[in-house]
Amino acid sequence: MSAMQKKDTSVYAYLEKPSMVDFPKRFAAVFFISGCGFHCGFCHNAQLMAKKQAGLSREKVEAACAKFKKDWVNGAVITGGEPTGASDLPEIISLFKNQYGFAVKLDTNGSNPKMLEKCIANVDYVAMDVKSGFSLYPEFVGFSDIAKLRESIRLIREQARDYEFRTTVIETIHTDEQMLEVAEIVKGSKRYAMQAFLPRDELPDEKYRTLPRTTAARLKELETLVAGCADEILLRGA
Ligand code: SF4
Repeated sequence: MSAMQKKDTSVYAYLEKPSMVDFPKRFAAVFFISGCGFHCGFCHNAQLMAKKQAGLSREKVEAACAKFKKDWVNGAVITGGEPTGASDLPEIISLFKNQYGFAVKLDTNGSNPKMLEKCIANVDYVAMDVKSGFSLYPEFVGFSDIAKLRESIRLIREQARDYEFRTTVIETIHTDEQMLEVAEIVKGSKRYAMQAFLPRDELPDEKYRTLPRTTAARLKELETLVAGCADEILLRGA
């Protein structure tokens, strides 16, 4: 009997309604894993961020999968929190992919290349956040083991079936200098996405709650600034 059959899964919750926007070209169910070692003051899933919380039983996750399957879902997004912190992530991926036939997209902050390496062959799309230039990581997101991030980037580039690196652009943080550092990090990649920051009252650090939404003009400006860093550059929310 596998670990996942004996105890609850690390899936903390899922969206009732499938998503058309979280997995390119897929109608996808979105599953959340709790716990994350980063401390992003702008985190949109702050209730999942800090510590690991009790997960759903395998029966509940399977019941959700069966319902999604009936509703023509053909993809599963595993997000967080940080999914690579879950010891049963390979089994969760296998459940979605091998038992229900969903293509699997894995969202990661890149902090656990060992777990990423275990999973990557069974994942169809990896989206890794590059939060800022690495020089700002300790202050901006509270993480300083940059070697792990570099290793995740290497693995994704060399082994992922399909992938993107992405940055949520906060105008006061993501200066031209920072974005040139990011462009250097993702240089030579297949796809790089920049997405608009949306302020919300629930953000964990109140200094981000009242910042303006990223303008379309700034995203377009950055598209020109980082041009050539990836084969494809995407703007989201522009
Ligand atoms: S890495 Fe993602 S889940 Fe973790 S704190 Fe940052 S935004 Fe939140």
